[in-house]
Amino acid sequence: MTQEWDAGRLDSDLEGVSFDTLAVRAGQHRTPEGEHSDPLFFTSSYVFRTAADAAARFAGEVPGNVYSRYTNPTVRSFEERIAALEGAEQAVGFATGMAAITAVAMGLCSAGDHVLISQSVFGSTISLFDKYFKRFGIEVEYVPLADLKGWEAAIKPNTKLLFVESPSNPLAELVDITALAEIAHAKGTLLVVDNCFSTPALQQPLKLGADIVVHSATKFIDGQGRCMGGVVAGRAEHMKEMVGVVRTAGASLSPFNAWIFLKGLETLNLRMRAHCASAQALAEWLEQQDGIEKVHYAGLPSHPQHELAKRQMRGGFGGVVSFEVKGGKEGAWRFIDATRLISITANLGDSKTTITHPGTTSHGRLSPAEREAAGIRDSLIRVAVGLEDVGDLQADLARGLAAL
Ligand SMILES: *Cc1c(COP(=O)(O)O)cnc(C)c1O
Repeated sequence: MTQEWDAGRLDSDLEGVSFDTLAVRAGQHRTPEGEHSDPLFFTSSYVFRTAADAAARFAGEVPGNVYSRYTNPTVRSFEERIAALEGAEQAVGFATGMAAITAVAMGLCSAGDHVLISQSVFGSTISLFDKYFKRFGIEVEYVPLADLKGWEAAIKPNTKLLFVESPSNPLAELVDITALAEIAHAKGTLLVVDNCFSTPALQQPLKLGADIVVHSATKFIDGQGRCMGGVVAGRAEHMKEMVGVVRTAGASLSPFNAWIFLKGLETLNLRMRAHCASAQALAEWLEQQDGIEKVHYAGLPSHPQHELAKRQMRGGFGGVVSFEVKGGKEGAWRFIDATRLISITANLGDSKTTITHPGTTSHGRLSPAEREAAGIRDSLIRVAVGLEDVGDLQADLARGLAAL
């Protein structure tokens, strides 16, 4: 198809280039039209040159597109760019972050397998394993995120994978990913990291020793709160299973969303630097204020795992700052209701700053005892810092403080 272009070059040579260059250019394969920006392929199926060509492609004897539930060129560009940024052999896109996590379990686990999950992961991840995968005979147990000895002790001969988020939501706890990967590998199991909060711009779990990375692309990868999507990245042997799940279970990523994410990735590093700088400034300011009892942010020297965060992350400590206010739930609600600029919504990784009360929203379905065990106090507020002027954000949080 591209023979007529052989005399010149359409694609960039990315040999040896750095992260920021990959984020802008990896995964793009120009068509003979010579488009500069990434093309968007809106098509359900693909034509074959002959009946024999159709048969060969269906049989997998020759590579090529068949149907967009299986493959789509725009989705593939997104997958290749994520693989390049995470340092993975391959990546597979999904319709949402939860579809990506579902595929990890469906693709790698069977009835009778055992899975260990950090106590502090996204609420829907807990529901997915606890309510659904348990019904299919997968054993599920929980371990405190930072407790390396606890992880080691909980691994059984049938443990298929360990699943963590670091830093955690909303309390910004960390686990030493390199140490946990060593524990997992010594016992013949896999480490899966949900890297949604950090993105590869701040942390590359595969380079730290993890086996599989999952993302909700809905968050920072989109970056402007528009589209749902997810992605899994890792070694080809595991990604083969992810491909199998997506093409049969069918939670395929829309090419339109993949195109938005490609555009999002082009500015990922710039945006993450800005999110982190504002989050750091607000965390430091909040820590000085009367009315604030505690600030949870890994970029603060007062954070118990600040040294680990400096080792494991680069360029910043993420865009999410959580803090406890005086006055319990009433104080927290008064604080939230007194803001005038920041959006009261649970999304994160958006250019617009958001504020929530985890105890009655994301963690509202937990019992009071479960919330206590997870460290989600009634006085806790989570702010996902966006890209507005940091002075304006501080002024809005000051309105909340004044309402305490
Ligand atoms: C949002 C989120 C998910 C789920 O992603 P969706 O795209 O909403 O399905 C998974 N993990 C983390 C850490 C998240 O923040």
